[in-house]
Amino acid sequence: MAVTSHASIKPRDGVSTLTDRWPLLGQRRPLVGYLCAIVALDLVAIVMLSAFTVFQWRDALTFAALMACGAVCIEATRRLGMPAGVSRDLLSAWWLPVALLLPPVYALFAPIVLQILLQVRVRATVLYRRVFSSAAIGLAGCTASLGFHWFVPDPSVLAQGSGAPIMFAVAAAALFAVLNIALIAIAAHTADPDMTWREVLWDRESVLLDIVELCLGVTVSIACGLNMALLLLALPPVVLLQRSLLHAQLQAAARTDAKTGLLNAAAWQREADTEIVRARRTGESLALLIIDIDHFKRVNDAHGHLVGDEVLVGVASMLRSQLRDYDVVGRFGGEEFVVLLPGADINEARRVAERLRVHISHMAVPVEDTLVKVTVSTGVALMSVHGDDLIDLLTAADLALYRAKELGRDRVCIPAVPPPPPHPLSTDTTPPPDPAPAPHQDPDPDPTP
Ligand code: GH3
Ligand code: MG
Ligand code: MG
Repeated sequence: MAVTSHASIKPRDGVSTLTDRWPLLGQRRPLVGYLCAIVALDLVAIVMLSAFTVFQWRDALTFAALMACGAVCIEATRRLGMPAGVSRDLLSAWWLPVALLLPPVYALFAPIVLQILLQVRVRATVLYRRVFSSAAIGLAGCTASLGFHWFVPDPSVLAQGSGAPIMFAVAAAALFAVLNIALIAIAAHTADPDMTWREVLWDRESVLLDIVELCLGVTVSIACGLNMALLLLALPPVVLLQRSLLHAQLQAAARTDAKTGLLNAAAWQREADTEIVRARRTGESLALLIIDIDHFKRVNDAHGHLVGDEVLVGVASMLRSQLRDYDVVGRFGGEEFVVLLPGADINEARRVAERLRVHISHMAVPVEDTLVKVTVSTGVALMSVHGDDLIDLLTAADLALYRAKELGRDRVCIPAVPPPPPHPLSTDTTPPPDPAPAPHQDPDPDPTP
């Protein structure tokens, strides 16, 4: 199941501000409105359905058994931790049977129980995210449960193996997944309207996971309907799957910069090294860009670090959207980004760097009654021209970046290439050309861009 979670809530420099204590207040207003509406809807559903539900011990026992399985799953993966951002787990293997086998109100309670366990046992995180996740999963589960019970009033027939109830169970599980994804995606898109719906919704890996969850949930429901003791047989494979899923997500998270979603410096360096070795072997061209936001400290000073962070995220998504899938983009640190362009020659590198510069300078981050705009300076280095390994290329691009800053910022610079030393046997007596400026140096030499 997709859940949002785990932003760090540590106060900066030990100073606790209002938004540190109530992180929800630091969010965009539409997001706050949306989160509150979903939680309110969940509460209304709990109150209304509780009033209409006849309590039965057998239902309570099934609920307790399924929640106990969820708790074992959480305990078995507790030491692995949990990745930041929107993460996936297989806990729906337990709350899908709750939705299918029990009255709909139980589907609203199941995520509350498991989210409390996650908060207490795995990671204490920003509370509003946990509350929202519980409400979103609860509402999705409750709707699926209402739909399933409408067509199959007696869920015990699920265990008899006839086709129609199983088909309705699969349809309910699919509805559960679609609603859950939609509720989380709307929150993600409201938090960051620059993200395209495709980015928020579509990911081949997560569709595969949804199918696995659906199959697990329906299978566990049938097993549990047959005999509750069969949950003991279902538990080990689900725990194993949950552990491998978390492991894969943590591995991905270890490569990623949590704030921008780009590669972090260490992962970028590893991937860049691989590309450079490949380019050396094949003789293909390759370019490296270092992109630094101009006067970023002023943005922080004028609007605060949260706005500064939004600008970083905006620049990162602009870089991602403007580059090809096989370009290697990373956050090098602070407000500095690095891009490796495999196959790019000097003209293409210059064109790409210039396009990025222009797009970023047109980007605006809305802050209350104003718009924050930034520009970037870029240093470019070319493989075989300015260096043959990563260190040389980074050094050359960094020098070019320094020059771009000196020339007034908001520009792209390429280092001058020293002329080749005269061949000792050469009889050519014409003097070497003046090394500065080289013809391709500073494509934008005009200090006012
Ligand atoms: P220049 O044009 O010379 O690059 O000036 P600058 O202000 O961008 O550069 P400087 O190195 O003086 O300041 C970088 C600032 O970036 C200082 C630091 O507080 C800020 N910064 C670094 N990392 C983050 C971050 O993750 N979030 C925010 N909001 N600010 C950050
Ligand atoms: Mg800067
Ligand atoms: Mg910098």
